[in-house]
Amino acid sequence: MRSQTTDRVNPGKYTRDVWFTDKDENQALSLRYTGEVLFRKESPFQRVSVLDTHAYGKMLTIDNMVMCTEKDEYHYHEMISHPAMLAYGNAKNVLVIGGGDGGTIREILKHESVEKVTMVEIDGVVIEACKEHLPSISCEFDNPKLNLIVGDGIEFVKNAKAGEYDLIMVDGSDPVGPAEGLFTDEFYTNCKNALSENGLLVAQGESPMFNGKVFVELNQCLSNIFGQEKVNTLLFYIPTYPTGMWSFQIASKGNINPINADESKIEAFVNKNELNYYNQEIHKAAFAMPNFVKKLLKKE
Ligand code: SAM
Repeated sequence: MRSQTTDRVNPGKYTRDVWFTDKDENQALSLRYTGEVLFRKESPFQRVSVLDTHAYGKMLTIDNMVMCTEKDEYHYHEMISHPAMLAYGNAKNVLVIGGGDGGTIREILKHESVEKVTMVEIDGVVIEACKEHLPSISCEFDNPKLNLIVGDGIEFVKNAKAGEYDLIMVDGSDPVGPAEGLFTDEFYTNCKNALSENGLLVAQGESPMFNGKVFVELNQCLSNIFGQEKVNTLLFYIPTYPTGMWSFQIASKGNINPINADESKIEAFVNKNELNYYNQEIHKAAFAMPNFVKKLLKKE
């Protein structure tokens, strides 16, 4: 029997028994919240909301799907950024597609070598909501190294200069609506072209447990474009995404193998920045695949 399932962030605020549910065809995640919707706007692309939940603090949702919460966002944002940034070593010019909450640019800007981050987010309403209600995530929008573009990332990479970026992070939503084109051969071919000689691409890869088909298709799409041995899958744990098991795919244009990042550099970076999820043991473990995932990816 479970008597106390969550830490109470601020018990006084959460007296009402109202629940938000992120509902898929066959399963759902429910979180109790204050009953008050802090932000809700219909943008030309999607419905953007912010709620204050009992267990995970404030939460951004898009079209009723959890995008991030104050309590576990760092799992995602540290893991999309640091394994690839530290494997690359001295990244100067980074491109982020999506990422409107600001968490990915916050992590990238912790790397001192970075001179410029270009972020292309299709929906200004996401940025507005997060600046207003999620300041711990959106805290780097005024950083002078940031070149913020509100526009379509798919169009942006079509016209990007060849060899321009050391790293590209695709921090997009699930493959529906404006993010559908973030899961195509054409998009990733254009990303590869925009990467520097030794560049790395990191793509939000869905869940092998929840969305195995898209997980495999993205891995195959990147393998066709970059070469199978140049694509690595990274798994991490995040409680507010369906099944709690999520992935990124890291594709390498040159010869950098992200698995082999320098352990002492990782530890120094982690300690200096007091990270909450990522460390050198996690770096190693994240590339280990359970057998069912190896089978899905035909790696055994
Ligand atoms: N952590 C989230 C997840 O995996 O569920 C993803 C982060 S969320 C902030 C993804 C962002 O990608 C959204 O703000 C959305 O507006 C943006 N996005 C979707 N399609 C896009 C596109 N074609 N170009 C640029 N941004 C896009």
